[in-house]
Amino acid sequence: MKTYLVFLLTIILGTSAIKQTFEGYKVYKIIPRTQDEVNVVKDLQTKGIGQLWDDQVNINYEVRIMVPPHKDDEFKNELVRGYIGAEELISDMQRLIGDQLQPVKRNSRNSEAFLGMTWDKYHTLDEIYKWLDDLAATYPNIVKTVVMGRSFENREIKGIIINYKPDKTDKVIGMLEGTLHAREWISPATVSWIVKEFLTSNDPAVRSIAEDIEWHVFPVVNPDGYVYTFTDNRMWRKNRGTRNFTSCAASGLLDDASNGVDLNRNFDFVWMSMGASSNPCLNTFAGLAPASEPETVAIVNYVKNINSQGKFIYYYSFHSYTQLIVVPYSNVTGMDVLKADNYGDMFEIAARGAAKLRQRFGTIYRYGTAHDTLYVMSGTSFDWVKQETNIPVSYLIELRDLGEYGFLLPPEQIIPNNLEIMDALVEMDRVTRQMGYYSGTVPVICTLSVVTLCALVSLLM
Ligand SMILES: [Zn+2]
Repeated sequence: MKTYLVFLLTIILGTSAIKQTFEGYKVYKIIPRTQDEVNVVKDLQTKGIGQLWDDQVNINYEVRIMVPPHKDDEFKNELVRGYIGAEELISDMQRLIGDQLQPVKRNSRNSEAFLGMTWDKYHTLDEIYKWLDDLAATYPNIVKTVVMGRSFENREIKGIIINYKPDKTDKVIGMLEGTLHAREWISPATVSWIVKEFLTSNDPAVRSIAEDIEWHVFPVVNPDGYVYTFTDNRMWRKNRGTRNFTSCAASGLLDDASNGVDLNRNFDFVWMSMGASSNPCLNTFAGLAPASEPETVAIVNYVKNINSQGKFIYYYSFHSYTQLIVVPYSNVTGMDVLKADNYGDMFEIAARGAAKLRQRFGTIYRYGTAHDTLYVMSGTSFDWVKQETNIPVSYLIELRDLGEYGFLLPPEQIIPNNLEIMDALVEMDRVTRQMGYYSGTVPVICTLSVVTLCALVSLLM
């Protein structure tokens, strides 16, 4: 009763929700084998028994569902009734959330630090933004901060430009986009590591990438959502736009789940056509129109601007989890992959990157279009960038892991994740250069033989 009163007061006063605890919440893995089982899993959320981590529920695809302790018996009863098996992956989400904010014990691998930034735990927006300022102050001739726009709650979307050759006239440009989805904390931890490597590595291959390209780096493009994952709800994914508020309690979700738009469904790329929702309560809510959100508008304007300034060759959008290098376009499969005119090259660059990545720790990344590796999507940033600029290399990278911890990846894995991703970026750059994209001499039409090979490889994966 007391909790209910506080909750009611919070709504009446119009303040943000009370910080949600995930104490005793379990996460289960379910693989529905029939359409009936798919329906049972979807109903678990509708009935308020659990909340799905995944955007879609499909036959023979793993889904993860988090279940509060007071619903655990009901959850198990529903599974028994539906003859469905489930595997418990996480026994207490709150313990893992606590772990993410505690530095891991120091050893040679995780003791790295650079100008106050560390990769032994996850960092707040303020810490990340301060670090960007410190980088600009420390490397005044190479690094400058830039604000691409402001969020719904008027926070800066801050990044840096790394430019070792400011006088170069024929610029080659790349962009790193982090944390479009708020809860994917490994994303800014990866982007910041890449920055550190660009500024400090002695590896000649890394030096080439760092110094031959003007890099535009934005570790957190959804700052409101990211802050909200620290202050209120660790599992928040969307931005914090409140214009489409509607009560969501009847769908078994948090009542204020509609206070946000999925930014990676909000871009003007076959918007709202597939893998997106018009229901504001859902995690894939695409907004009421393409680029309805200030964060999307900021990215759109920024990308158009840098595209006009030189040869724009790299766009990387970092997400988690599932270990994928996703190749545009996310709405096509079969021969329609040729709608991206250098699909064969993008597929090969991704394949070579994934092969290199695997060498360090054996981590397996799959690669290909979203349709072939994950599920169809529309309104995504990396697809929009490809369509808008015809950039040769635009990927969405889903970082670690495969779902053992998912969004709650332990900090022990940050540096191993970063090391292997850096290996992949270096290899992908090597292949991209070999293909002639720096000089712009390659034909951008994918040959039929390459695509046939791509398709065969795709089938074998
Ligand atoms: Zn994501």
